[in-house]
Formats: sequence, C-alpha cells, structure tokens
Amino acid sequence: MRISHLQALADIVLGDPEALALAYHETITGAEPVFESNAARGRFAVALKAVGMATDAARFQAAFTKLQQAAGRKDKPVEPACRDCGSTNLTRDAFAGWDSDTQQWVLSAIYQSTTCHACDAESDDLCRWKPIKNPPDELLSQASQ
Ligand SMILES: [Zn+2]
Repeated sequence: MRISHLQALADIVLGDPEALALAYHETITGAEPVFESNAARGRFAVALKAVGMATDAARFQAAFTKLQQAAGRKDKPVEPACRDCGSTNLTRDAFAGWDSDTQQWVLSAIYQSTTCHACDAESDDLCRWKPIKNPPDELLSQASQ
C-alpha cells in the first residue's frame, strides 16, 4: 500500500468532509493516488464518496464543487475585470486574523465586496470574468499535467 493510500485512509477515519472531497476529487481525476487498475480506482472512489456523503453531505458536495471549479479554471485561466471600466486593477475586502503559531497575519475571510482602483467603483457584483489571452507559462504547464 502506498503512502498516498494511507493518507486517504487517514482522511476517511478522521471523517473531515473537505479532506474526503479532496481525496475523492484526486482519485476520480486520476492525479493521485496511483492504482493497480481502473476498477480499483473506481472502488476506492465509491468508498470515499460514500463516507464523505455520510459524514456531512452538504460540506462534502460544496468542497467537491469548489475543487471542480478550481480545476476548470486551471485549464482555462480567467481574471476579473471591472464591470464599469474593464480594468483588471480590482481588490476584494478581506479580514486577516493573527496566527500565534506562525507569528503572522493570515487571511481568514474574503468578501464579495470588490473595489476598482481605476474608476473607484465598488460593488458585490463588479467582477466580469474574462479569459486570460496569454496565461503565464506556469499556469499552462500546470494545466497540461
Ligand atoms: Zn472600473
């Protein structure tokens, strides 16, 4: 049994729906872990999904949907542009909390409220997502893996 299988088993035992969703996503997308056959991969995926759904169906599905969206974005990178002026110089409101372990401020929440620094527009509905025409090389190499 490979280390990655053991990690997935640990996730199952711990029953964390986000970790289970990640293990399920990696199993069905074929990135990791490595299996002897597609049938073995399929059985493992079914087991992960069953435990994830039994643990907390809503959190499992939400985490899995997020992973799928992130994977889709990696294939076709996008960037937010201002609804009003088209600028990509946008920021979102966020909170940072102090992490005593790492001794630094850590991002704890990102809100919908977006500000355009070109035209000063501010709205929860300011972003228009557009494909990046010439994505950076590292995004292309990640997408082809
Ligand atoms: Zn703008």
